[in-house]
Order: sequence, then structure tokens, then C-alpha cells
Amino acid sequence: MARVIAVASGKGGTGKTTISANLGVALAKIGKETIVIDADITLANLELILGMEGLPVTLQDVLAGEADISDAVYTGPAGVKIVPAGISLEGLRKANPDKLEEVLYSLLDIAEFIIMDAPAGLEKSAIVALASSDEFLLVVNPEIASITDALKTKYVAERLGSKMLGIVVNRVTKLSVEIAKKEIEAILEGKVLAVVPEDPEVRKAAAFGQPVVLRNPKSPASKAIYELAGKIAGADVKIEESGKGFKRLLSIFKRR
Ligand code: ADP
Ligand code: MG
Repeated sequence: MARVIAVASGKGGTGKTTISANLGVALAKIGKETIVIDADITLANLELILGMEGLPVTLQDVLAGEADISDAVYTGPAGVKIVPAGISLEGLRKANPDKLEEVLYSLLDIAEFIIMDAPAGLEKSAIVALASSDEFLLVVNPEIASITDALKTKYVAERLGSKMLGIVVNRVTKLSVEIAKKEIEAILEGKVLAVVPEDPEVRKAAAFGQPVVLRNPKSPASKAIYELAGKIAGADVKIEESGKGFKRLLSIFKRR
């Protein structure tokens, strides 16, 4: 039975899609059956950053009642399964977000983790995504607006019955104006599970349609995301270098 984890935020642009995609790939890499589903159907870009655009059947078709979910699950990098949202405006008009929970239900038996890239804000599609999850990660940037908006999302998600798994602070630089981890934990009343640095490799990888955790596993952001995956999966993850440049070798010492 899969754990359904929504990757949520208050504000847009905090890094939900980046974290969802790379966390999904990292979980797959450490041997966990993982599906990443793009529930951000209005601003779908999961498929773009994974270099998987143009797939024939998408979540839009499923939510429109025009396709079966089994036809919208694709195998992506490192064997992670991907359910793309689809980018057609016509498809978006026909999609009924209320069907999301039913769709997720039929995926529960085929994975250990379902990572859901949730929409920003608190409009209907965001509410449905949060309500359909068991747990959620809050992705924030170390700025006050991002954190106060995330707090609203947290309250709403909890009222909808989802449990906060933890906080991911993304795009962290060394600037002293940035809010410290401890303050973020106090404001959001939760634990910071990962501090992901601002890392130019993230955008480079996205431009090539490759997950940064595969393209550059030793980059600072990748390391933080592998650690996050390890914490979520209950495994210690080691990234070791081989003689031939950056080759990935992951060991699982402890399984849940
Ligand atoms: P969201 O899905 O929350 O809207 P995205 O994941 O699309 O956010 O990220 C927004 C932008 O920030 C993208 O251009 C992405 O490449 C960039 N980005 C995200 N995380 C990082 C990071 N840790 N370092 C550098 N750039 C990042
Ligand atoms: Mg996004």
C-alpha cells in the first residue's frame, strides 16, 4: 500500500516540481517503487523537467473520464513511474479535479510511494490534491512571504486530514537575511527534513530535461535530495565516487 505524499507550498515557484521529480527519482534509485504524479494540471511541468514531454495519455485525459489511469503511467529515469499532467488547454477544460482521489486509489497497490506535485495556492485543484494525500512536504524558500503562505497551506492540509511529514527549505544561500532553519521550524511547527541549497546544476539539469540527482549526483542540491529520500524511505544513502568520474553507487543499510 503506497504512502501518498503531496509536495506542497503556499507560493508558486518554491521548487515543488524540482523536489517532486528528483525525490521520486532518488527513491527509485534506492530501490523503492515510486510514482510521481503531476497534480499541478494547470501549470504542468513535471514532464518537461524529466524530458518526457508529449506523452500520448495524460492525467488530464484520465480526469476527463476519457482514459484509464493505467494508460497514463510511464517509466521514467531510474525506473521511476511518471503520471504526466498534460499541457493542452482543451484537456484542462474537460478535466474534473474531483476524480483525483479515485485515480490515486487505483495506484496504491502498484507502488510504495506516490509523490504528488501539488498546485500552489489554495484553489480547488490544490485542495483536492492535499485532501487526497496521507502526508505532505512543505517546500519553502527562506523568505518570509514563502513561509507565511506555507503556513496557510499547512493549516488547510491538516484540516483536510493530511499529516505534515516535514519541511524542505529550498534555494538556500549563505545570505544572512535568510531565515534560519530553527525559525522556520518554530513558525511552521514542524521539522526541516532537508535544506536544499541554491545550486546552478538544478537549472542546468532542467534545461537538459534530466533530473539533477542523476545528471550530477554529487552536486549540493542532489546530495540534499538523496538524504531526504533516505529519511523518507528509512534508509541510509551513500553516494560514492568511482574512478570514472561521478558514478553513483547507492547502498541501503537499513530498510524500513
Ligand atoms: P514550483 O514547481 O514550486 O513552481 P519549480 O520546481 O518549477 O517550482 O522551480 C522554480 C524554478 O526554480 C525553476 O527554474 C527551477 O529550476 C529553479 N530551482 C528550484 N530549486 C532550485 C535550486 N535548489 N537551485 C537552483 N534553482 C532551483
Ligand atoms: Mg511546479
